Amino acid sequence: MSEHSSNNAQKDEVKNDFIRNIIRDDVNAQRYQQIVTRFPPEPNGYLHLGHVKSICLNFGVAKEFGGVCNLRFDDTNPTAEKQDYIDNIENDVKWLGFEWAGEAYHASSYFDQLHAWAIQLIEQGDAYVDLQTPEQIRDNRGSFNEAGTPSPQRDASVEENLALFNDMKDGKYAEGKAVLRAKIDMASPNMNLRDPVIYRVMHQSHHQTGDKWCIYPMYDFAHPLSDALEGITHSLCTLEFEDHRPFYDWVIAKIGFDVPPHQYEFSRLNVDHTLTSKRKLKQLVDEGIVSGWDDPRMPTVAGMRRRGYTPEGLRDFCERVGVTKADSVVDFRLLEFSVRQSLETTTGRGMAVLKPLKVTITNFSDAVSSWETQKADSVNARFDDATQTLWLTQPNHPNVDMGEREIPFTETLYIDQGDYEIEPPAGYKRLSPEKPEIRLRNTYVLAVTEHITDENGNVVELKATIDPATLGNNPEGRKVKGVIHWVSASQGVPATVRMYEQLFSAEDPSGVADVHQALNPDSLTELYAVVEPSLAHADAGTRFQFEREGYFITDSEDHSTDKPVFNQIVSLRDSYKPA
Ligand code: ATP
Ligand code: MG
Repeated sequence: MSEHSSNNAQKDEVKNDFIRNIIRDDVNAQRYQQIVTRFPPEPNGYLHLGHVKSICLNFGVAKEFGGVCNLRFDDTNPTAEKQDYIDNIENDVKWLGFEWAGEAYHASSYFDQLHAWAIQLIEQGDAYVDLQTPEQIRDNRGSFNEAGTPSPQRDASVEENLALFNDMKDGKYAEGKAVLRAKIDMASPNMNLRDPVIYRVMHQSHHQTGDKWCIYPMYDFAHPLSDALEGITHSLCTLEFEDHRPFYDWVIAKIGFDVPPHQYEFSRLNVDHTLTSKRKLKQLVDEGIVSGWDDPRMPTVAGMRRRGYTPEGLRDFCERVGVTKADSVVDFRLLEFSVRQSLETTTGRGMAVLKPLKVTITNFSDAVSSWETQKADSVNARFDDATQTLWLTQPNHPNVDMGEREIPFTETLYIDQGDYEIEPPAGYKRLSPEKPEIRLRNTYVLAVTEHITDENGNVVELKATIDPATLGNNPEGRKVKGVIHWVSASQGVPATVRMYEQLFSAEDPSGVADVHQALNPDSLTELYAVVEPSLAHADAGTRFQFEREGYFITDSEDHSTDKPVFNQIVSLRDSYKPA
């Protein structure tokens, strides 16, 4: 059973998870010249949040212990694999902030060596060609309570096996007609040791080796040997491979290596309301449920990058989750927390009105004609007569130096519909007929004089005045509570803003048989917003804090200055606190 884990971070301290403790012991005992780990994705999809955990662990420990980490494509199954996946995986690992040692490796570049080792096993009497059908092989494996039945080929001579294996390689068998099996123990309580298949026939071109091979090694055979070839010291994988470790060790022992690699297993990352299975994520892409692997709602690295999540936020999240052997489900709000934290001091501020309500300032020309005499010394501004615009210079961040921008203030503005209520709920701190005054961020104090409603009683426009003496100054003789954001109607730029919720309303979408039933119908809402010009002018992929609204990024695909498009990264705050 899974439970919500406490996610206790040991940040900036020596990390004491069981993997690092093992490696620390090995380093102290000088068991290896250098620590070598690897991240071994199969290029059959895009990387997801689960892979991020494995990347942070493998690359992280290598760095911490002065070692190296390889990137190795475990490309032993050509049917599902593509070059496009390889390119994107490399890009994602780099974006996360990690560097692999040398070139990226491919299990397929070891095919000659793996084939030679398969022949070695046959010669040692440790492998045989089985001509049973796949069904017979399955049925004869036995069950948990029952030993398997040996294949009729199990005791064939070395010569006969060598000849049959050569025939397999030469394409004399159709798929499913012959396999090479390790000869171990058909009665083993561990099913993985009941003569596992190590080579199979596949009449398939391979993205790296072309048509050279029509037999391909199985993952469980290729993996330990690829590790050994690369001098991997600690082969870190997820818990489902624990039962495969005896076979891993068997292969390593039978081929024989001076410095054998060791496999260690840790628990998978599971996050609530999230899917971490390439196969299921591919279904969402293939069925057009999302716009692609990089849809900002996807838990893929590509999706999270487009959403505006930061590498720092993702790495911090993995640190907080930690590494254990206990299965757990992490609260998705921890991820949002880490991302939000990484944005606080790294994003410029800006004003965007997501649900615009028009405000006409009826004394604009009077008030603005006196702006220069009434303003505080701290205010830097200029008035453009031609467009009747007061340009206010403001820093992009209140306490981090990120430069300045000019914000246009004009006769007609937009404020957010939520900032004016005819009948405000108790405790409401913004504008209402009873509380007509408020500070407009970066500029004057505004007083609403009239609201105009449509036939349904909805407020469609406000008339208001500004107090000319309040540009950078507090009003005389009264306190004005509250500050709201605003955007000039004439100088602001209409923008599409995409608001996101979790893609899945189901807490455990992998537990829902039909993935469609797990979806959240409100995962994407598009708003027609208005943003200040500096936001519209930003390059694609620029992150901002929209004052009072949250963190947003200009979309990497669809954004342009003429038609700005922003993705919501994360809300400004949340009641959630990590343990
Ligand atoms: P999927 O089921 O999504 O296809 P996989 O394990 O088959 O995942 P691989 O490309 O084989 O994907 O995985 C590469 C590495 O990432 C492996 O070492 C694997 O253990 C690790 N990994 C995959 N999913 C997770 C996860 N949820 N948490 C931690 N590590 C993971
Ligand atoms: Mg896999």
